Amino acid sequence: MEICALASGSSGNCFYVGNKNGILVDAGISTKQIIERLNIIKKNPENIKGIFITHEHSDHIKGADVFARKFNIPIFLTKKTFENCFLCSDEDLINFIKNDERVSLCGMEIEAFSKSHNCLDPVSFNIHNGKQVSIITDVGYGCKNVIKSVSESDFLCIESNYDEKMLDNGHYPYFLKKWVKSDEGHLSNNQSALCVLENASSNLKNIVLSHLSKNNNTHNIALKSFNILKERRDLCPKVFISEREFPTKLFKI
Ligand SMILES: [Zn+2]
Ligand SMILES: [Zn+2]
Repeated sequence: MEICALASGSSGNCFYVGNKNGILVDAGISTKQIIERLNIIKKNPENIKGIFITHEHSDHIKGADVFARKFNIPIFLTKKTFENCFLCSDEDLINFIKNDERVSLCGMEIEAFSKSHNCLDPVSFNIHNGKQVSIITDVGYGCKNVIKSVSESDFLCIESNYDEKMLDNGHYPYFLKKWVKSDEGHLSNNQSALCVLENASSNLKNIVLSHLSKNNNTHNIALKSFNILKERRDLCPKVFISEREFPTKLFKI
């Protein structure tokens, strides 16, 4: 499988996973940006065969409707998410998925699992083809589904949203700080690193830190938090960071 974080952060999230053909997990950047970034990694939008939506927040769905209709791509999401978001996509393109069910596409099986975040029916995805890619962002805490996904993952894109001190000392209003830290908010660097330390297997070779806060995090602080992984000799993944403005390299596993 090939994997790329085309964009990640509160300004928009979009991940590519594929072989010859591929899928997007979320489409939270504009159609123009999706096309430009697919171009950078030498992928043709015509070869995108599905868009899998994690939840209805705009940084995950912004470009989905236009991109789907432009290239006639089916959208996969839960019924509750569909009912709570404003995708007016051609109804024929909408496909409902259920948690724990697998969809076969492009030689891969895509499995949604529920998680905790402040929306109606949030899911994350495991993508299988002998190896497992897990894409886990917008999650308040490491619930049992997140732990299972991390423990079975060969390639993990995981949220590392904020540094606790930066959030506490920053300018966000109190209610927002409280929400970000809550069980329905986001994972801090330390929460994310601990979740990997405690649950990942030695098969995990690559981690892409995702959905970093623009205001409450830095690359250096996020990377440093993951130094904790050195406590386990059997676990030595390479750690990368996804960006808001440009895609990561195209990873291959
Ligand atoms: Zn988000
Ligand atoms: Zn969200």
